[in-house]
Amino acid sequence: MSMALGHATTGVRSLNREEAEARAALLEVDRYDIAVDMRGLFEGEVLESTSTITFRCLQPGASTFVDCVAEVRHATLNGREIDLSTVSEGRIPLTDLAAENVLVVSAAQADTGSGAGILRTVDPSDKLVYVWTSFEADDARRAWACFDQPDLKAPHRFTVLAPETWTVTSNGAPTSVEDQADGGRLWTFPDTPRLSTYVVVVNAGPFHELRQERDGHSLGLYCRQSLKQYLERDAQELFDVTAAGLAFFGEQFGQPFPQERYDQVFVPNMGGAMENWGCVTWTDSVLFRSQPTYGQRESVASVLLHEMAHMWFGDLVTMQWWDDLWLNEAFASWASTWAAVNATEYTEAWATFLAGLKLSGYQVDMGPASHPIRGDVPDVTQAMANFDAITYVKGQSVLKQLVAYVGEDAFVEGLRAYFRDHAWGNTRLADLMSAVGDAAGRDLTAWTEAWFDRAGTDTLVLAGTEVLATGPDGEEPRPHHLEIGVYRRGEADGARALQQVGTAYVETTGSRTAVEGLPDQADLYLLNDRDLTFAAVRTDERSLRTMLDSAVDLPDALSRALAVSTAWDMLLKGELSTDELLTCVLGVLSSERSPGVVEPFLAMSLKAAEQWSPAVAVPTQLARLAEVAASLAEDPELRAPALRTLAASATEAAHFEILDAAAADNNDLAWRVLVRRAALGGYDAAAVEALLKKDPDPDARVRALGVTAARPEESAKAEVWAEIWEKRSIPAGTPLLALAQCFWRPVQHDLMLPWAHRYLDEVGHLAGGSGGMLAVGSLMRGMMPTTADQAFIERARTMAAEPDQNPTVRATLLTGSDALTRVLRARG
Ligand SMILES: [Zn+2]
Repeated sequence: MSMALGHATTGVRSLNREEAEARAALLEVDRYDIAVDMRGLFEGEVLESTSTITFRCLQPGASTFVDCVAEVRHATLNGREIDLSTVSEGRIPLTDLAAENVLVVSAAQADTGSGAGILRTVDPSDKLVYVWTSFEADDARRAWACFDQPDLKAPHRFTVLAPETWTVTSNGAPTSVEDQADGGRLWTFPDTPRLSTYVVVVNAGPFHELRQERDGHSLGLYCRQSLKQYLERDAQELFDVTAAGLAFFGEQFGQPFPQERYDQVFVPNMGGAMENWGCVTWTDSVLFRSQPTYGQRESVASVLLHEMAHMWFGDLVTMQWWDDLWLNEAFASWASTWAAVNATEYTEAWATFLAGLKLSGYQVDMGPASHPIRGDVPDVTQAMANFDAITYVKGQSVLKQLVAYVGEDAFVEGLRAYFRDHAWGNTRLADLMSAVGDAAGRDLTAWTEAWFDRAGTDTLVLAGTEVLATGPDGEEPRPHHLEIGVYRRGEADGARALQQVGTAYVETTGSRTAVEGLPDQADLYLLNDRDLTFAAVRTDERSLRTMLDSAVDLPDALSRALAVSTAWDMLLKGELSTDELLTCVLGVLSSERSPGVVEPFLAMSLKAAEQWSPAVAVPTQLARLAEVAASLAEDPELRAPALRTLAASATEAAHFEILDAAAADNNDLAWRVLVRRAALGGYDAAAVEALLKKDPDPDARVRALGVTAARPEESAKAEVWAEIWEKRSIPAGTPLLALAQCFWRPVQHDLMLPWAHRYLDEVGHLAGGSGGMLAVGSLMRGMMPTTADQAFIERARTMAAEPDQNPTVRATLLTGSDALTRVLRARG
């Protein structure tokens, strides 16, 4: 899965670890035969299912339960009626089990509008209906009865009745599609391999479908009709990256993806993407409504490869319990970047990762919501709370460190053994670490505990010829395998440059490690060059000055990203002013030509100028950024992201002239320019109406709402607030995030402050209500204010500390209020 979505349901019990262990020890599931009737979703809201579960019980006579969070209409165990009055809290008790059992449960789910496992959406532009399912962690039980835990794997066979105009996608290719006498068509799918209940899927709707045959695989892409022009625009690249990924992973992991069919289905109102076996479901906000930038294309390739890596790590070999969910996600994220660098055009993906995502991992890790990468997960609710930047980003970084520590060849050899030995089974972290340790000839036990069982970031300092390491809060530091790049000022091709005059490798142990072979008299010692480890790095004063004023002269994008990210880390910790940070990053941007880092650097600059600068300095800092953006816009390769940044920072007539010319045939840019003008007090209702008519995007009304959201007026903010919180009319994911950016304007501080407090009121209602984690996670994270006062911070902390606070709410409040504390300090 990429990005966090889930839900909590009141009145339903969350499976705990002991229950899961007991049930796994008692049962072996032979197969699921699941008949789904989706015809009721054409005009109504009910999904019906009949789940036939064939399973063995290792202690005949024993009792257990099956999960079903839907209205149970009828249930029999071995032909015997189950008394439905015993069904409670989403569980059907099963008593007096035989050695071999057949359970049949018919159920109906009417909650198909909230996105809890199943979502029915009506496209606003053509009124066509689409339905998706997405079950991680334990939402399969909302669609049909099942033993909903990852280590009770079984083949699934689906038969799906759907309206005749719909296409159904599931984990394999349908074996037959037959018209039914009583309406609709019956789609029959073959047995899946042994799968966990959370990676099966049924999507349906009048999809637009594209297919290509590549290297023995049948690749499919699907989207709603209103977006087909965007899918067709991007299809070739999607097919190419998919084919490249399947070939790369198949080779590296020592076994090809074992089925012919590999489908990717783009659906409305979903956050992120989900690694359903052979049928990945994606948010269709990645079918960008204007020509995507390099960074957007790279992010799509990254998600594509992440979900694909899960086919092996997650689906083929699955975590036994959710406490290893982090490993599932960290591995897929690491493998995605690794594959992007080695098998696609995105060869600087590690630099992109460092300049963007990795910084969010450092930020969470320095705040009060940090936790060890490997956490205790007593029940499934807690599993979803751990979907954060520690899980994905720090986990990915630490796996990169592991690869540096044991060597890539040994790591890959270990992976091959792991996939071979555990195919279609379940594992724990120790199984992976022992496979890698065996291949490398190293015992990784201490390493594993140091890196995975402790929160916080180590700090590494180069002092003379020693690396000094300190752990968080004075603890022992971890072992680090790292590289030190040594640079001297000079010239290359007649221009100023920092030339690499040496490299030293260090494996630190304890708090002081001597570095061998470090050349002296350098202008810059770049600690953690190539970004092999996860640590805050500090260096001598001369190196720091070189890094801040001459990072632009470093020879490669990853080194420049390391310099910039170190400056960002210092800003967050109050060691550097926003002005100094901007001097460093804008200096790099003035001649940066690597598209993989330009966009994260532009985003960082905008954030620093808008949010982290004292109010009086915001216009000046935005003007500095606008100048750099205007200049980058002259490079055709960088023009699109540069213009977007210019649209967010423009103040002068000359900037608007450039923008207006470029926006004439670019609806996305035109919306951004309207937002900027509205924020500056120049709301133009007629221009919004005209663009709304011209823009074919089915979600264009959300763009129009963004223009309203930017206006420095109470009534405009109120109108948008009602759409977001009361009507819940904004699709999850990108549309909501973009709208939130329009809404929260740090420069409108006095106007925004009461809204920041209203945010906490809303969160209080959400947390107590039954709105579901879809709302809690997506809305809370998306709408976190970017400006606040001390009273807000204290209130957020108090709410986070409430006993029995929902874990996702708590983590979001802690992370958000910590970030705002740092912002307020930097503003002075
Ligand atoms: Zn994932």
